[in-house]
Amino acid sequence: MALPRSSEPSPELSPEDFRRLGHRAIDLIAERLAAVREDPVRRPVDDAQRTRWASEPAPAAGREADAVLERVATELFPHPMGNAHPRFFAWVNSPPAPLGVLADLLASALDPSVAGGDHAATYVEHAVLGWLKTITGYPRDSGAVLTSGGSVATLVGLAVMRHVKSGGTDRAAGMRQVSSPAGTAPLVVYTSTQGHSCIQKAVELIGLGTDHLRRIPTDADFRMDLDALRRQIADDRARGLSPACVVASAGTVNTGAIDPLDAIADLCAAEGLWLHVDGAYGAVARLTDDTNTLFRGLERADSLGLDAHKWLYMPVECGCALVRDPRAMRDTFSVVPPYLRDDTAWPWFSEFTIQQTRGFKALKLWMVIQQIGLDGYRASIARDVALARALQARIRARDDFELVAAGPLSITCFRYVPPNAGAGADANIDALNRGLLDTVQREGRAFLTQTELHGRPVLRACIVNFRTTEADLDILLDTIADAGYRFSGLSRSVE
Ligand SMILES: *Cc1c(COP(=O)(O)O)cnc(C)c1O
Repeated sequence: MALPRSSEPSPELSPEDFRRLGHRAIDLIAERLAAVREDPVRRPVDDAQRTRWASEPAPAAGREADAVLERVATELFPHPMGNAHPRFFAWVNSPPAPLGVLADLLASALDPSVAGGDHAATYVEHAVLGWLKTITGYPRDSGAVLTSGGSVATLVGLAVMRHVKSGGTDRAAGMRQVSSPAGTAPLVVYTSTQGHSCIQKAVELIGLGTDHLRRIPTDADFRMDLDALRRQIADDRARGLSPACVVASAGTVNTGAIDPLDAIADLCAAEGLWLHVDGAYGAVARLTDDTNTLFRGLERADSLGLDAHKWLYMPVECGCALVRDPRAMRDTFSVVPPYLRDDTAWPWFSEFTIQQTRGFKALKLWMVIQQIGLDGYRASIARDVALARALQARIRARDDFELVAAGPLSITCFRYVPPNAGAGADANIDALNRGLLDTVQREGRAFLTQTELHGRPVLRACIVNFRTTEADLDILLDTIADAGYRFSGLSRSVE
């Protein structure tokens, strides 16, 4: 078989070409950074463009790298998700720290697999895992790995829970032993009605099934109701089931509610239940003085998940799973075939999680935490919380908005309720808020999403954004009121 001639397309770039393309790419990013405040948050994608992107056939022949890069510049960059913008208030998505963007470039240039082994990236990940323990106040000697995000962190935590609760028998015996060591009673997991969807996915994936996931009601502040939890555990025991684990939230995605962690930890200790804390959004807010005490008890969790691509402003993806007992974590995942036997005394990360080959996610954390320091994070997170308070004060002060939930962190749930809406008009107001949201999202001056509380839709603004200012809050509310006014006029004229 003939080797390809050197003139045939190959991935290789000369150092000169790499430099030219690299300058173009960096210029593109810098221009976007300079224009981010003036650009629309999002631009609508039209149907033809959607189809062109999604159905493009794979090219048989290659083309110049410059031309490919230009496609990114002209086709893709005009259609960002929008999270870099100061007026992006949707879900829990932060802007990427610009130094983190460069870190991802450098990380892929180094391109190690951080499965483990004796090279720089391994020790950089150990460093940042230690820093994340400092930030959250979690024990220094716990086991930890970076993950793709909070969902996999939850799955890792619950997999260790299953291993421990099955008395270590689950790995060999599989589902036959996913029950109490006594042998027959299925394990039951508890979370609140506000718990994230990833908890259900994890319970399904570890084989317990949603029939064994209990959704505990919440109090007026959307925190897990401890008495209801206690009653449900007793009930399940009486029915011969085996209560195994509480998944508490340290910052729910709907309102930012933080479950009473210390009291839940007491209950788990008394009842012999595993405590997993989902801190994907909120756990890093433990850094700030204003919200610090809300997290009391988090350090007692058997396992903890958090997301650095939320309130630590990392580019997607970067999460972290922490498990108090590192031996249990290793026992859950470790399979070391002969070709992986070790070149160092340090255990490999791949023994503590699902992935074997692992990217160098740690570099962005290592660089940005050095850049702004824990004090910088403390100030920035506190500022986001203060902005949420300022938004809530504005909503209270206006006669065309209604505050529905002011969470303890940086999420605000509210409704547009024009003064002439009239009494008993809930259905109209719900339709109005749904309709205006669509208009706001299309027009791109601000971007937010909705959720449902007490069975009714609400607008929801989350601030995990170092670019947002008070002026942006005024623009947000004016934009919503303007769209609401037009939408209600429109629906009146249609009737
Ligand atoms: C985002 C989030 C998750 C899921 O994390 P991913 O990074 O999206 O996988 C879980 N719980 C809460 C509270 C979250 O905010």
